[in-house]
Amino acid sequence: MLEVAEALAEVLARVRPLEPGTETLSPAVLGRVLAADALADADSPPFAKSLRDGYAVRAADCATPNAELKVVAEIAAGVVPTKPIQPGECARIFTGAPMPDGADAVVMQEDTQPLDGDRVRITDANVKPAQWVFARGTEMRAGEVALPAGTVINPAALGVLASLGMVQASLFDEPRVSVVATGNELVEAGQRLQPGQIRNTNGPMLAAQVARAGGRVENLGIAPDTPDDLRSLIEDEIDFADVLLLAGGVSVGKFDLVPAILEELGVTIHFRQVRMKPGKPLLFGTKGRTLVFGLPGNPVSAFVCFELFARPALAAIAGHAGRGPRTTLLPIAEALAVTNDRPTYHPAKLELGESGYAVRPLPWMGAPDLRGLQPADALLVLPPGETRLDRGQSVRVVML
Ligand code: AMP
Ligand code: MG
Repeated sequence: MLEVAEALAEVLARVRPLEPGTETLSPAVLGRVLAADALADADSPPFAKSLRDGYAVRAADCATPNAELKVVAEIAAGVVPTKPIQPGECARIFTGAPMPDGADAVVMQEDTQPLDGDRVRITDANVKPAQWVFARGTEMRAGEVALPAGTVINPAALGVLASLGMVQASLFDEPRVSVVATGNELVEAGQRLQPGQIRNTNGPMLAAQVARAGGRVENLGIAPDTPDDLRSLIEDEIDFADVLLLAGGVSVGKFDLVPAILEELGVTIHFRQVRMKPGKPLLFGTKGRTLVFGLPGNPVSAFVCFELFARPALAAIAGHAGRGPRTTLLPIAEALAVTNDRPTYHPAKLELGESGYAVRPLPWMGAPDLRGLQPADALLVLPPGETRLDRGQSVRVVML
């Protein structure tokens, strides 16, 4: 049986990133990854500009206290200054407006007094060259890499790309993920429960996990535990999808048909069990470039296995650089004493206090208890054996 880290390494070793495609830039591409460097098409700012409302001056003219200057022009943002500033002169200027020739500094309005007859007194006796001026090309130079390939598109990235004049960019594609729940006992929400039946919770939950992980999901519904139905539902998906997620039917019971059907369909199975709780019977296989996960049927097991293995795989397929779930150390918000036979992933909630984040274990009844997991935004990573944590002690967590 593999350890969690070994199983994750097996999965990631088989990921092939998708081909990039040209996409129109809009909020719809948030979270996607740039596949090519985005280059600056011009210096930014394209001209030296004022960072304050005030007066564009020659700093040398302001060396004497209360210097008086002649105001020879007014320059608003969007205006091109035409008159060079001579000694003893200045221009009224506003934030974002281009600096006129001859001037080398801006004096804030607050440090000036307007006088009669187009004159102004500079009350700041300590004007330094370049003050409140954003020189041409300070932010970036034409031809420079503004955002490198691998950048994750966030709102600021969309702003930077717009500043480069780009309306389209080369982005890694989103993985296509097919979801199938297996089990004779399952019915969809909206249908009447007959005796012995339960509702398909894994289908909608996994579809949402895929969407949150940046995948394009196809929820194929329920496959009964009969070989022909199961085979015909997943046959095409294995060639079409980038990732196939099956839930249930992967253990060792008589009706756990998934492993045999996958092998029949040409899937190479890389592992069938991982030493963890919840979720020991986790299957991972590949056919061509398609990754196949056989997740355990218990909803919390399916959820946790998705977060630990499938989510990092989806991220890698979509060109993200991270190699695994996001983990960190946090103080625990209450004492915890548990004994586990395997490494355990316990649902927990982040709490923001005066001295930063702490993490509180949630009351949880184990693998079938999805409602107990629902408020979780983290999983405590607890080692096998006895764990005793005092309040405030550091504990490793996986962020969801
Ligand atoms: P299995 O892995 O198929 O043996 O299923 C393990 C447990 O999870 C059983 O109690 C199943 O009834 C339950 N289960 C399997 N699939 C689902 C599902 N899609 N939604 C809710 N419970 C499920
Ligand atoms: Mg089953």
